[in-house]
Amino acid sequence: METFRLKNQAIKKIKQGYPLLQAGDFENQLNEARLPEGQWVKFTDSKNTYQAAGYLGRQNKGIGWILTTDPQEQISESFFVRLFKQAQDHRKMYFLDPMTTAFRLFNGEGDGAGGLTIDLYADFAVISWYNSSIYQQKKLILAAFLEVYPEIAGIYEKIRFENQNLTDSQFIYGVPAAEPLIVLENGVRFAVYLNEGWMTGIFLDQKEVRGALIEGVSAGKSLLNTFSYTGAFSVAAAMGGAIETTSVDLAKRSLAKTKEQFALNQLDLSNQRILVMDVFDFFRYAKRAGYTYDMIVLDPPSFARNKKKTFSVIKDYGKLVTEAVDLVKDGGLLFASTNAANLTMKKYKQMVEQALLEKGYPFLLKETYQLPADFRVTAAFPEGNYLKVLVYQITQ
Ligand code: SAH
Repeated sequence: METFRLKNQAIKKIKQGYPLLQAGDFENQLNEARLPEGQWVKFTDSKNTYQAAGYLGRQNKGIGWILTTDPQEQISESFFVRLFKQAQDHRKMYFLDPMTTAFRLFNGEGDGAGGLTIDLYADFAVISWYNSSIYQQKKLILAAFLEVYPEIAGIYEKIRFENQNLTDSQFIYGVPAAEPLIVLENGVRFAVYLNEGWMTGIFLDQKEVRGALIEGVSAGKSLLNTFSYTGAFSVAAAMGGAIETTSVDLAKRSLAKTKEQFALNQLDLSNQRILVMDVFDFFRYAKRAGYTYDMIVLDPPSFARNKKKTFSVIKDYGKLVTEAVDLVKDGGLLFASTNAANLTMKKYKQMVEQALLEKGYPFLLKETYQLPADFRVTAAFPEGNYLKVLVYQITQ
C-alpha cells in the first residue's frame, strides 16, 4: 500500500474523527495530477508510524477520505460489508415503516466512507460516486452491497465527478426499474425516474419537512412553493389538507412532472397552480395581483445560472427572503431552506433574520430542521449536515 506522511495538525483532527483530507495536510506536497486513484493508501506521521488508512481522490471538497484509524483493519469487501450492515441497523425504523419506501441507505462519511452515497427507491438502489478513486472500487463495493442486500432488484449509478467518458447516470445491475417507479414517503406517492441524469424527481433529504406539511400544518392553508422542481412540497401540503397550492419553477419539465405527482395522489388539479417562470418575476407579478399565502417555501439550489443572471445562496438569499415575506399572510409561515454546505447554520440564520429585520415584520422561529436520520452525519464533521430549514411565523 502506498504511504503518505501527514502533518501533526492533520493527525490531530483525524484522531478526533475528522474524515476529510485537504491538500495542505501532507508533509510532502501532493502531486494532485497523479493521485493513486482506485487504491487504498496508508497515512503515517513524520516518523512513519501508522495513523490511518483510506484513499485519495479529487472531488468538490477535499482530496481524500479516512476510512479507518485501526492498524489491524484491512480495507476489503468485508470492511464494506460491515459498514453497510451498520448503516442498515441505523435505519431500522425506515425498513419497518411500510409508508416510506424511499430513503438513504448509506450516507458517505456519516456511515464511515466518504465519497459514496446509496439511496433506496422501493426495490432499487441508486449509488452515487463523488470521485473517480472510489468509483474505481466499484466491483468490490457492489459485491459488498449485494451481500447485505441480495434482494435488490436493480441498481443505477450516478457519476458525480468531472470526467470525459462516463454518462451522468447508468443502469448497472439486475432488472431495470419501471419509468416512472412509484415510491412512498409518509404514505404519499411519488413518481421517480432512476435514469434521468443526477436527479430522480424527489430530494430524499427533505422528508421531515414534507412530513410536517402532511401531518398538520397545512390543513386549510394555502401554499406558495418556490423553486418547486417536481412539486414535492406542494403535493405534501395538498395531502395534508392545503386548500390550494402554487408551484413556481423556471424549468419547463417541472409542469408535467408536478402534474404527474398530483395525479398520482388523486389530488384535484383545479386547486393547484403550476407556473413555469422565474421566482423573482413571480414575486413582482404576485405583488401586483395582491396574492398572499399562509405558507411559503423557499428552497433554491445553492447556485443557478439562467439566461439573465446568476443566483447564489450566499449572495442572494437575503433578497429572496425580502421579496417573499411581503406575500406571507398575517400569522403565516415562511419555510426558509438551503442545502449550501459552505454556509453554517449560524451564518444562514443571521442572513435570513437580517433580511426579516430589515423588512420590519415581527417574526418567531417556530421550527428548525437539518438532515433526517437516514442522512446520517458524524459530530466530528458538522459541515456534512448541509441541510438547513428554518420555519418562521410572520406577523404583518
Ligand atoms: N424544492 C425542490 C427542489 C429544488 S431544486 C424540491 O423540494 O423538490 C432547484 C429548482 O430550482 C430546479 O428545479 C430549478 O429549475 C429551479 N430554479 C433555479 N433557478 C430558478 C429561478 N430563478 N426561478 C425559478 N426556479 C428556479
